[in-house]
Amino acid sequence: MSQDYLILLQKIDSWAIELGFAQVGVSDIDLSEAEGHLKKWIEKGFHGQMDFMHKHGSMRTNPDQLVEDTVRVISLRFDYSYQSTIAYEKILEQPNKAAISRYAMGRDYHKLIRKKLQKLAEKIKAEVKDFNYRVFTDSAPVMEKAIAEKAGLGWIGKHSNVLNAKAGSYFFLGEIYTNIPLPISQKATYHCGSCTKCIDVCPTQAIVAPFQVDARRCISYLTIEHKGPIPKEFHKAIGNRIYGCDDCQMVCPWNKFAQDSKVTDFLPRNQFDEPDIVELMKWDEATFLLKTEGSPIRRIGFESWQRNLKIAWKNTK
Ligand code: SF4
Ligand code: SF4
Repeated sequence: MSQDYLILLQKIDSWAIELGFAQVGVSDIDLSEAEGHLKKWIEKGFHGQMDFMHKHGSMRTNPDQLVEDTVRVISLRFDYSYQSTIAYEKILEQPNKAAISRYAMGRDYHKLIRKKLQKLAEKIKAEVKDFNYRVFTDSAPVMEKAIAEKAGLGWIGKHSNVLNAKAGSYFFLGEIYTNIPLPISQKATYHCGSCTKCIDVCPTQAIVAPFQVDARRCISYLTIEHKGPIPKEFHKAIGNRIYGCDDCQMVCPWNKFAQDSKVTDFLPRNQFDEPDIVELMKWDEATFLLKTEGSPIRRIGFESWQRNLKIAWKNTK
């Protein structure tokens, strides 16, 4: 490995930290192991309505098919939680309040992280003329979690989220695909051991086996991705969760190491850390659009928002 690339990686690391990222790793583009898991998951129909999980063919698991000449992926972690936020678990105990997944209480991360990735890539480009790249965050067919694991950012836990021994799991991931053969990081080691807390706590038994989440049963999927009525069998278990579900992360012992975000953008807006169900039900579509401007919640649209609220409201009875 050229000494130059090692030095470049050190620079990337410090630029990324300046931009608010918490960690950087580099993976190669061999995602064959993850491809096997993905195929089996889709064959079982666990992806539900998320057709985008298979419609790009082998592009998702072959980065060089998505961006020609890619040989490495720079994977980055961005923490989004705060100790000061009212604990999600406390809201679950108050049926008149609505529970919103931590990541969605503040600003929509997509644009913000993308901009930061772009800035980082431009800094690299200024240093290395031949640096070709494309940045991603929860966009395009990218195996974010498998890449993060290979890049050493954390291991994939039994709940299928990425976990970091020093930072838990409350973080976003971003990627830069590149043609520059940067030194590859060491893959993260696995530390779930015999723990099954996430599997045991899941209100809908969506974690059907370690590392296998049947999205069709998962409250996060049902309240965000699923279009149309939510099957009745899950209504009661949904409780007061109106946007996403953090239960499996909430009980994970590693989240006692969760780090405060380095930016204030993800702090709760509109009291989204303790909203009142009845108050939210008073919103018409214009209010919904106004109050969720710049928030990821807006992505589900007013119809799904009301659908979720009605289920939560019925559960208050
Ligand atoms: S997000 Fe909630 S419903 Fe989905 S697997 Fe985790 S605990 Fe279960
Ligand atoms: S709760 Fe336990 S099994 Fe689940 S991800 Fe955390 S450590 Fe792993």
